[in-house]
Amino acid sequence: MIHIDGTHGEGGGQILRTALGLSLVTGKPFSIQNIRGKRKKPGLLQQHLTAVNAAATIGSAELNGAKLGSAQLVFRPQSVVAGDYHFAVGTAGSATLVLQAVLPALLGADGPSTLRIEGGTHNPWAPPFDFLQQSFLSCLQRMGPVVEIDLQRHGFYPAGGGAFCAKIEPATLTPFELCERGEVQSITATALVARLPRHIAERELVVVQKQLDLSDRACRIVEVSESHSPGNVVSIVVESEHVREVFTGFGEKRVSAEQVARRVSQEAKAYLDSGVPVGEYLADQLLIPMALARGGSFRTGPLSLHARTNIDVIEMFLDVKFAVKEHDDGTTTVSVTP
Ligand code: AMP
Repeated sequence: MIHIDGTHGEGGGQILRTALGLSLVTGKPFSIQNIRGKRKKPGLLQQHLTAVNAAATIGSAELNGAKLGSAQLVFRPQSVVAGDYHFAVGTAGSATLVLQAVLPALLGADGPSTLRIEGGTHNPWAPPFDFLQQSFLSCLQRMGPVVEIDLQRHGFYPAGGGAFCAKIEPATLTPFELCERGEVQSITATALVARLPRHIAERELVVVQKQLDLSDRACRIVEVSESHSPGNVVSIVVESEHVREVFTGFGEKRVSAEQVARRVSQEAKAYLDSGVPVGEYLADQLLIPMALARGGSFRTGPLSLHARTNIDVIEMFLDVKFAVKEHDDGTTTVSVTP
């Protein structure tokens, strides 16, 4: 039994999701105390409980403590079964983070799986659907497995009600190298408004266009009417020779459209100036697949506490060793070896 302290490092939901995923992969049971111990509202929220139940379903796991608000959990998996699954968060909690918890296991399962996951698809503090599809999964694909996701409905806070499907073709993961970005080939921006006035998107694109010096053709507006809640996101896609990165700004009440656009433009600019291929979020999400491949390396900016915490949890389950090398120019190379 692996014992985990949920206040370790960054002390958030990632510790739990990584533990769930790798417990399924390895068959090693774990117990966790102080779940999300460093978050304002600690314990299992609906989104985390959905991830726990989803992991338990695909791995026929025995659970102890799996209830809303719980600060502890014991998870004892049996074998992972590929198949067709449907999971619903039931709130606007992130549906993409439920996928993050079960994906490692299904990548190595005995056959293909299809998932339908309902909840939030574009949440702050979680991978937005477009980031997953265009950035993370395009990297994962290069390691062997084929994972396709298809958005069925956008889900925003507070109503949620979004949905996407995922098709997962397992494969043995092969080591992955991403130390150079290569030439930047294109930068495009999309401002999406769901049940909100079009002028929000227009104002956002004016700012992004100016900040990143984009042509009219590189910018587009998407209007969505079928979401349960109104929502607004600005996505900036930086396509380079070796990687595609996606930066996302989320519309918020009492934050002007211009400010939302300025923030995300600055994020994209900082990435462009840094010269690294891997941005902050992609960095923490590549760690599990690379560890499963038992080899590979990437270059990123300063490594977040989130990523460092994830490394610690991965090393508790898998027989691999990460090396984090900080360079004088502020960039970091992360590599993993068996
Ligand atoms: P946690 O805060 O521990 O629940 O984990 C949040 C997860 O969401 C991590 O895997 C982050 O990389 C991911 N994440 C948060 N914000 C973004 C974003 N803007 N784009 C992509 N991924 C994100």
